[in-house]
Amino acid sequence: MRYEGTLYRPPSEAYSLIVQATIGCSQNRCTFCSMYKEKDFRIRKTRDIVEDLILGRQEYRKVEKIFLADGDALIIKTEELLKILEKIKTIFPECKRVGIYASPKSILGKSTGELIELRKSGLGIVYMGVESGSDLILEKIKKGVNSSEMIAAGKKIKEAEIPLSITLISGLGGKEYSMEHGVESARVVNEMNPDYIGLLTLLVEEGTELYDDVWNERFKLLTPKEVLLETREFVQRLNLDNCIFRSNHASNYVALGGTLNKDKNLILEQIKEGLKMEGLEEGEIFRRL
Ligand code: SF4
Repeated sequence: MRYEGTLYRPPSEAYSLIVQATIGCSQNRCTFCSMYKEKDFRIRKTRDIVEDLILGRQEYRKVEKIFLADGDALIIKTEELLKILEKIKTIFPECKRVGIYASPKSILGKSTGELIELRKSGLGIVYMGVESGSDLILEKIKKGVNSSEMIAAGKKIKEAEIPLSITLISGLGGKEYSMEHGVESARVVNEMNPDYIGLLTLLVEEGTELYDDVWNERFKLLTPKEVLLETREFVQRLNLDNCIFRSNHASNYVALGGTLNKDKNLILEQIKEGLKMEGLEEGEIFRRL
C-alpha cells in the first residue's frame, strides 16, 4: 500500500484496510491536536483512491472492513464518494463495513438524502470528534463549530441511520472549565444519542497551541483525580439508549466501559474504585503510553 505521512484511525479500525481518500484534516486548527500538522489538506483524485483499493486487493485476500482516512473524508462530494463505495463493493465483495472520519461541517454540508444514499452504498460508520459540548471550550479549542451545529450534525447521521461514533476529551476545559465541560458534554451527547462514545483524556503534545498555553500557565491541567471527578459528572448526566461507552484508551488513567444507560451504575462504580486507587495522584504511571 502507499501512504502519505502518518496515518490515524479509530481503535475499532485496527484490522481494517486503510485507504487515504483525503490527506490531512480540513480543519487542522484545533489547539490541542498535532495529528495532521505536517500535511496541507487536500482531497485525493478518485482515480488514485481506486488505484489504492486495487493495490489493497493485491495484498490482502480477505478485507472485511475498510477505513477511509485521513481527517474528514466525508468532505468529498457525494457523487465521488458514491463512486468510491461502488468500487469497494466490486473490488472487495466480502467487505462488511466502510468507516469514515467526518467533521460536523461536512456532515451538515450533505442532505439527509445524500447520507442515506451513502449508507445504502456501504458507508457503515461515521466517526465524529465532538471533543466538548461546551460552546466556550469549543471556541477556545478552535473547533470551528458550536454545540448546536455539533448536535445537528450528530442527529443528521442518526437520521440517515448510519452508526455514529463520537469522541470526547476529558480535561479539555482545564481546571477552570472542568465542570462546565462535564455538564455541557453530557447535554450535547444526550441530544445526539450516539451509538458509541470514546472518552479520551487530554494529552498535551509539543508543537500545539495548547502546549504553549500549558507552558505559560494559561491552561491548568487536571490531576488524574480531577479527571475522574469530571468523568463522574459527565456519566451521571448521560441518558442514552444502548450506547457503547469506552474510556480505555492508552491516554486514560482508569479504564472504564459499559453500555449506557444499562451499565451506568457499573461505570460509576468503576469511577469510584478508580478514585480510591493508591498513587492515583502520581498519575502518569497509570497511562499506558
Ligand atoms: S481535532 Fe480533528 S478536526 Fe481538529 S485538527 Fe485534529 S483532526 Fe482536525
